[in-house]
Amino acid sequence: MSNHRQGYTEPMRRCIGCMTSKPQRELVRIAYRGGELSIDQSGKAPGRGVYLCRQEECIAMAEKKNGLQRALKTGIPREEAHAVYEQVRSLIGAAGESMEKNE
Ligand SMILES: [Zn+2]
Repeated sequence: MSNHRQGYTEPMRRCIGCMTSKPQRELVRIAYRGGELSIDQSGKAPGRGVYLCRQEECIAMAEKKNGLQRALKTGIPREEAHAVYEQVRSLIGAAGESMEKNE
């Protein structure tokens, strides 16, 4: 992964929902380590990482096609994956709410 172009290039990561590459900071990172999944808000948690856009659409897509399991190439119980998707939902939901209060 050494792709030297002119100047600074932001690290790009692919969303497991829509499969689009975006700058890492625009995505939510989910870390997987020792059989456990966790939302990694710092972006620096150890373990393998998968990424999701901050959009309900992408969460739904990822869940539908078992995006976590595919990206990590490992069997994760559906309930466990679902719990993580729910965490991402509440994360982006919280952000959305504050934006709506804009009167
Ligand atoms: Zn996406």
